[in-house]
Amino acid sequence: MVEGRGVSGGTGIVILGAGQGGLQVATSLRDDGYRGAIRLVGEEPGLPYQRPPLSKAYLAGKVHEGGLDLRTEDFFREREIELLAPERALRIDRGTRTVGLASGAVLSYDRLVLATGSRNRLLTVPGATLDGVFYLRLRTEADLIRARLAQARRIVVVGAGFIGLEFASLAASLGIEVTVVEAASRPMARSLSVPMSDYFRQAHEAAGLRFLFETAVTGVTGEGGRASGVVTADGALLPADLVLVGIGVVPNVELAAEAGLAVENGIRVDEYLATGDEAISAIGDCASYPSAFAGGRRIRLESVQNAVDQARCLAARLAGRPAAYDAVPWFWSDQGRMKLQIAGLTAGHDEAVPRGDPGRGAFSVFCYGGGRLLGGGTVNRPAAHNIAPRLMARGLGVTPAEAADLGLDLKARAHALLEGG
Ligand code: FAD
Repeated sequence: MVEGRGVSGGTGIVILGAGQGGLQVATSLRDDGYRGAIRLVGEEPGLPYQRPPLSKAYLAGKVHEGGLDLRTEDFFREREIELLAPERALRIDRGTRTVGLASGAVLSYDRLVLATGSRNRLLTVPGATLDGVFYLRLRTEADLIRARLAQARRIVVVGAGFIGLEFASLAASLGIEVTVVEAASRPMARSLSVPMSDYFRQAHEAAGLRFLFETAVTGVTGEGGRASGVVTADGALLPADLVLVGIGVVPNVELAAEAGLAVENGIRVDEYLATGDEAISAIGDCASYPSAFAGGRRIRLESVQNAVDQARCLAARLAGRPAAYDAVPWFWSDQGRMKLQIAGLTAGHDEAVPRGDPGRGAFSVFCYGGGRLLGGGTVNRPAAHNIAPRLMARGLGVTPAEAADLGLDLKARAHALLEGG
C-alpha cells in the first residue's frame, strides 16, 4: 500500500494519521463531493481501527477477527482513498508543500491535515521498563495484555482514569486481584463531579477493586527481568505480575512544531480548525482549539466524538462549506455494568446536582457554573444523556432546582425547551 520513492504525482489532500479522525476526514471529503486525490498516511499496520473496544470488548475476547476495523479494504478502493500504511511521516516542508515519509517517498499536497493523535504518557520511575509493565493504546498492546491476562493473579493499575478503570474492572471480573493506585483523591477526578466519582469508587470497591488514593508510584520491582510489584511513595510494596499504566497521553505535535507551526497543549488551530498556515489543519487528540463551551478558552479533547465531529467540520470546509466548529463535547466509558456518559465540559463547576437513585445503579448529575448548566454525567441512563447535548447546543438547560425536582418530568421539560415552549 506504500508508494514508491520520488515525489508522487498529483497533489490533492494528504492526511497524516490514519486513526479515527484521519479516516473520517477522508470519508467525509468523498461524502461532500471532493473529487481530488486523497492520501491517508498511517504508521500503524493494517486497516484503520477503533480504539475504544481495546479496553472493553476486545480485551474481553468478545470482538471477532477484523471487528475493530473501521472500514474494509473494498471501501478504500471504491472511494479512491489511497491508504499508505504502515508508513510514518517524518517531516513537513511548508515551502514546497511536501511531506517526507520514512520509506523515502515524498508526497505533495494542496491541503494537509494533521490527525496524528496522542501517545501514552510514560511512567518514568525505576523499573518502569520491565517486562510485564503495559500501556493500552494500540491494538498490538491490547494483544500482548490479553495474552498475559490469562496467567495474571495480581495486577496493579497505575492511574484511576477512564482506561485504567475500564481495564481494572474487566480484570477484576476475571477473578484477578486488582489494586488501583491514583495520585488524586478520587477516581476520574479530571472529568467527573464528586458525587459521580464517589459512586464509581463505591461500585468498583463492591466489585472487588482496591484503591490507594493520594499515592504516587515510585518504582516497579522485578524478578528475572519481569515486574513483580509496585512501590508507592508511602512505602507500600504491592505484589503484581502485571502492571497497567494509564496516566494520560501527550499529543503528537512534533511534526507540526518542527515545521514551525504553533503548539499550545496540542497543535494550535482556530475555530475553523486551521493552523497558522492556511494549507494545514489539525483535528482530534493532537489539536487544541478555542471552544465556545469553555467560554472561548483553548482546549484539547481526547474522544471519538471530538475526532469525528472535527473531521466532518474540516471536510466540509475543504469541500467549500466553511463553518466554525461548535459541536457539544460528549464521551462514554464502560466499566463493569456501568455505562458512563458525559456531555458538555464540567471542569470548574461550582454546583453538582444529583438526580435519581445511585443505589439503583441509574442516575444523573447536572453540573453548573454560576447557575448555568455546563454539562453533566449519567450512569445507565442513555435516554437522559441523548437529550443533554441537544439542549446545550441551543444554549438551553434546566435550572438546578428543576434538575433536583424528582416530581418534574424532565424529559417533557427538555422537549418543551427544544420546541421553544
Ligand atoms: P487516533 O485515533 O489515535 O489516530 C492517530 C493515528 O496517527 C495513530 O494511528 C498514529 O499511529 C498515527 N500517527 C501519529 N504520528 C504519525 C506519523 N508521523 N505518521 C503517520 N502516522 C502517524 N474515546 C471515547 O470517546 N470513548 C471511549 O470509550 C474511548 N475509549 C478508549 C479506549 C482506549 C484504550 C483508548 C486508547 C482510547 C479511547 N478513547 C475513547 C479515545 C479515542 O479513541 C481517541 O480520542 C480517538 O481515537 C482520537 O482520534 P485521533 O484520530 O485524534 O487519533
